[in-house]
Amino acid sequence: MRVLVLGGGVIGVATAYYLERAGATVTVIDRQAEPAGETSFANAGLIAPTHAYAWASPRAPGTLLRSLWRDDTALRLKPRLDPGLMRWGLRFLAECSAARNRANTLNKLRLCLYSLACLERLRGDEGLAYEQTTKGALYLYRDAGHMAVALENARLLREHGADIDVVDAARCVAIEPALAGIAGRLAGALYAPKDESGDCRLFTKKLAARCAGLGTSFRWGTTVRGFEASGDRVIAAITDLGRVEADAFVLALGSYSPLVARSVGLRLPIHPVKGYSLTFPIVDAARAPTVPGVDEHALVAFSRLGDRLRLTATAEFTGYDTTHRPRDFAVMLRAVRELFPGAADYDRPERWACLRPMTPDGPPIMGRAGKANLWLNTGHGHIGWTMAAGSGRVVADQVMGREPEIDLTGLVPDGRL
Ligand SMILES: Cc1cc2nc3c(=O)[nH]c(=O)nc-3n(C[C@H](O)[C@H](O)[C@H](O)COP(=O)(O)OP(=O)(O)OC[C@H]3O[C@@H](n4cnc5c(N)ncnc54)[C@H](O)[C@@H]3O)c2cc1C
Repeated sequence: MRVLVLGGGVIGVATAYYLERAGATVTVIDRQAEPAGETSFANAGLIAPTHAYAWASPRAPGTLLRSLWRDDTALRLKPRLDPGLMRWGLRFLAECSAARNRANTLNKLRLCLYSLACLERLRGDEGLAYEQTTKGALYLYRDAGHMAVALENARLLREHGADIDVVDAARCVAIEPALAGIAGRLAGALYAPKDESGDCRLFTKKLAARCAGLGTSFRWGTTVRGFEASGDRVIAAITDLGRVEADAFVLALGSYSPLVARSVGLRLPIHPVKGYSLTFPIVDAARAPTVPGVDEHALVAFSRLGDRLRLTATAEFTGYDTTHRPRDFAVMLRAVRELFPGAADYDRPERWACLRPMTPDGPPIMGRAGKANLWLNTGHGHIGWTMAAGSGRVVADQVMGREPEIDLTGLVPDGRL
């Protein structure tokens, strides 16, 4: 079977890999010059089932409301006339009940845990190295009350298979000595011993090279405009460089999937939510962390990627704009100087902004939609690197007519489009 995968980010490439392994003839199209050129380029690097919580929660409407007049919050929402955002926002609010939050979180967690197992297998099978760490992750709290709430939330994840320990400040330092300087200001942390980290871009590039070795053909620098359909089937993808025919099509364009899906009348509930990242060269290895984590007070994620330190933060509703200004990084810079003083050259930042493809309920959308041979693997939001291997495997299984290995409740398009 000839399968055309649209999108050469981590999701598209992981899908291509499992399709190739299952015997398909695979082509991947992407407008960038190489793999992981957009959102998969500079994310925080965390492989974190412990962050599987759905953003739509009973607390979310209050947080959104506060962000309307506060400029320093990790969440930024400025009122503007955007019908797409309004439609998405109404659906997001409808997912904010405790019951919906629980269901959405558990659906994401199931995929995250499966994905972690797939990644482990893939890493072993292909011998891939991508600056990964497998020493767990620390979710740091400055305030005992905040930590108690987090612990209550973590109970749900723990009851459903996530390993999460509660550790005090001294144990944080034993796990991550680079936190010694800030230990006095920590209430403690949730420690997830099985969470990991790694350079998503490097992984995607290496996996793409492996796919090419197996026979996948890549068309970089090619922009998809839409689909050509006949009856209930897609015949070809229309690109700026001509038509590309296939027997099956996988849409994995991240935040841009809705724009291409429109051409076959599909309205995908995915909205771009901007985030920012900073990467610094490490100058004092002993002061830089080797365990990734999140400063839950500042809402800043950090991870060590070889000889670099990566930080990310902020969720901003600003459409498809990916520009950035120095002040967008101020919170991150303040947090990292406090967490790991002297670890990196904080005067030499690489700045980046990109868009999380968010669904209103939280889980990605994986499965057939709109046409008999059109498959979605998109909407992975804030945690797509964590879910990539599992999502690639699930959608490859679906396309190839195999039974996926996990329950797909809440992850398929049914009732969500
Ligand atoms: C600041 C930030 C921090 C994050 N941190 C983490 C983290 O620590 N852990 C985690 O698990 N996740 C994290 N994420 C989320 C994760 O990065 C995303 O979920 C994931 O990268 C999405 O992958 P994707 O392949 O769907 O999208 P992308 O990587 O955006 O890939 C889509 C591809 O489609 C291509 N494309 C788009 N439109 C077209 C078109 N018309 N024609 C041709 N090509 C097109 C693009 O060039 C792109 O390569 C973070 C995200 C952000 C923004």
